[in-house]
Amino acid sequence: MQGKIMKGVGGFYYIHPHNTVNTIYECKAKGAFRNQKIKPAVGDDVEIEIISEQDKTGNIVEILPRENLLIRPAVANVDQAVIVFALADPKPNYNLLDRFLIMMEQQGVDTLICFNKSDLVSGQEAKEICDIYAGAGYQVFLTVAKENVGVDAFREAIRGKTSVFAGPSGVGKSSMLNALHPQAQVQTGAVSEKIRRGKHTTRHSELIYIEEDTYIMDTPGFSSLVIENLEPEDLKEYFREFECYNGRCKFNGCVHIHEPECFVKEALQAGTISQLRYDNYVQLYDELKNKRRW
Ligand code: GDP
Ligand code: ZN
Repeated sequence: MQGKIMKGVGGFYYIHPHNTVNTIYECKAKGAFRNQKIKPAVGDDVEIEIISEQDKTGNIVEILPRENLLIRPAVANVDQAVIVFALADPKPNYNLLDRFLIMMEQQGVDTLICFNKSDLVSGQEAKEICDIYAGAGYQVFLTVAKENVGVDAFREAIRGKTSVFAGPSGVGKSSMLNALHPQAQVQTGAVSEKIRRGKHTTRHSELIYIEEDTYIMDTPGFSSLVIENLEPEDLKEYFREFECYNGRCKFNGCVHIHEPECFVKEALQAGTISQLRYDNYVQLYDELKNKRRW
């Protein structure tokens, strides 16, 4: 039987047979298979051998070929990432958002952006933010998860795919998951409550089955991200809106900061490239440069 690894805990893997609804087999990686030196990962499609149909136990006997294997977060066969940010409460940290976009781009994964809690800001403010990221080349969704607003359009965008779901704590990620899939029953909590208890989301990463061929990898909330394995000179490749200018400025290898006759800076002046994105670019560039110095 073939299925997908939904989570791994203490040497056990929980396998959801393809296109079933509520069945999970608790499996171990079989001895012979363990010699293959490839470790099963959440998201892997595997062949299992059932030990007991009654107890729902089995052995993983083969890992089917992987499409990809992400390192951060560790998950196989990912089609896309979804980053959820709130437009208010907590106030969005766009630098953190841009870091996430870079991190996914580094791993070759496209990211959709979901701006939730759009009920807490004016329509004008929401539109400005959406325009910045849509203009940068990302697909943007505006939602009010707790009232099911915008959820249907979003559901279409994840249908038939495996999506990594990420975002800072308190943005409404759990509310979004519950709206997409009421049976998932992900625990939600008020921001203030979480802070008061000094408790961050401690759920570990696992896949949630939404519908046929549709899975979401829920990940713990994060509050910072360090960009690794990136030379400052290469950062420009990770800002999609720079793509049409890279390599065309007057100076060979222009990084679009201090060089004269730079097309990116001209686009910034003209308003084609957003100041917010550009400022984050410069800040990240300096950070990568300083890191190298150390
Ligand atoms: P998570 O930490 O990202 O999983 O966030 P939760 O889903 O637990 O939501 C945090 C708080 O925000 C809860 O009190 C939710 O009821 C609230 N919330 C979620 N979505 C929305 C929304 O679209 N608008 C507003 N105003 N509040 C929301
Ligand atoms: Zn330039």
